[in-house]
Amino acid sequence: MNFPFNDHPNTVVLTCCHIIDGSANIFYVSHDADDGMWQFLCGKSHSENEARVVSLYEIYALDPTIAQIADLPYGYIAKRESIESNWNVRKN
Ligand SMILES: [Zn+2]
Repeated sequence: MNFPFNDHPNTVVLTCCHIIDGSANIFYVSHDADDGMWQFLCGKSHSENEARVVSLYEIYALDPTIAQIADLPYGYIAKRESIESNWNVRKN
């Protein structure tokens, strides 16, 4: 399998219920500086009960376009306006 991330496909990542139920796309990605945790979110604000934990492989299977930011360094976030937009990467 050609997996674009350096992390193992079984790596635990954070996402939100909107991504999982397909009602929103991934518009906000964070690669946390302190623990290396990936977050793949829809970009809206969330309450705690909307958080979901999945594997990096599952989130990649849901939206393979995140391969574009697979090299996002620790401590950086990436945002985009739509699925077709380029990612806007900046230091968090
Ligand atoms: Zn969401």
